[in-house]
Amino acid sequence: LNRRLDGLGTTIFAEMSALATATGAINLGQGFPDTDGPESVREAAVRALRDGRGNQYPPGPGVPELRAAIAGHQRRFYGQVHELDPDTDVLVTAGATEAIAASMLAFLEPGDEVIAFEPFYDSYAACVAMAGAKRVPLTLRAPSFRPDLDRLRDLITPRTRLLLLNSPHNPTGMVLTAEERTAIAALAVEHDLLVVTDEVYEHVVFDGDHVPLATLPGMRERTVAISSAGKTFSFTGWKVGWAMGDARLVAAVRTAKQFLTYVSSGPFQYAVAEALRLPDAYFATLTADLRRRRDLLADGLGAAGFQVYRPAGTYFVTTDIAPFGERDAYAFCRALPERCGVVAVPNSVFYDDPEAGRSQVRFAFCKRDDVLKEAADRLRTLG
Ligand code: PMP
Ligand code: GLN
Repeated sequence: LNRRLDGLGTTIFAEMSALATATGAINLGQGFPDTDGPESVREAAVRALRDGRGNQYPPGPGVPELRAAIAGHQRRFYGQVHELDPDTDVLVTAGATEAIAASMLAFLEPGDEVIAFEPFYDSYAACVAMAGAKRVPLTLRAPSFRPDLDRLRDLITPRTRLLLLNSPHNPTGMVLTAEERTAIAALAVEHDLLVVTDEVYEHVVFDGDHVPLATLPGMRERTVAISSAGKTFSFTGWKVGWAMGDARLVAAVRTAKQFLTYVSSGPFQYAVAEALRLPDAYFATLTADLRRRRDLLADGLGAAGFQVYRPAGTYFVTTDIAPFGERDAYAFCRALPERCGVVAVPNSVFYDDPEAGRSQVRFAFCKRDDVLKEAADRLRTLG
């Protein structure tokens, strides 16, 4: 392993899912739904396979049908003032993960600083490191996990190249407010920063709203927005994601993507194009279902004795284990399957300074109601 990958090891998601498999525990660790996305979309994938659409290398930027559907989705939900040109402003990637990696490789020089919220989604640290840059954390603190914007201003230095932002935020469930979005955009413009926005939970917002930062004044020309079919359509295994923005920026990300995967898997792209055109009711139902599940699990965790930070978005709930007199989230998560047959993820691994999230544990609620109820019952035996 070279020094850039030092300490990155195996992702916590793989580690905890392996623990769930080995113990047969209910897996509320890794964030993937236990019910697949719409039948009609699966049928579309089968049709594409049968009809021979996408079985050979599709175009590098993605199939035109999907790029047009992505631009149409942005128009429908965000009324983007500056329309995205599907030919130049949209790039299909192997999940949001590749879009993040390609963006970091495209924009960063060794020694550049990248400001990102912490706790952070784990690939951020790895991708910034692989690009030879330095991640500078803006720590979100319990109980509100709101970003301290004065602190953000203080963190900006002449070496700051890019803000890597995530809202709705994994793992805390924080959703940026209109005031916060405006203030962050103003700082980005003032300091002429690039901005990469990870919006994979754009349709999983319970309180507040999601507005892409790219739609704010002065932001279009400096922002690459990233999303994915994994969360919105419950197909995390398909690995279809995308990057959007100004043609110049997207061309840079495309250059990096060309040499990572060259192109993304073909038939699923046709199916995701259909998914993006599902009626509004699909998206409303997704949110409503997950809201009910949030409440089910959050209430269950509260009854079991956890301190619960009810999320405004995403399908994760962060808790604190201090009420049990425990403070090591990692040790707690390693032992949890044995103690009560449930798997969760320690947030401590998402901080540069593990002390900051020492006793935080994350549970995923993108699971069937009966599974969540059973998990809550098991957790109640912890005492
Ligand atoms: N960003 C965040 C914040 C995530 O939670 C995830 C979850 N998987 C990803 C990116 C990666 O998305 P994908 O599976 O589309 O690569
Ligand atoms: N995004 C999901 C999570 O946060 C899973 C990601 C992964 O397994 N890499 O749990």
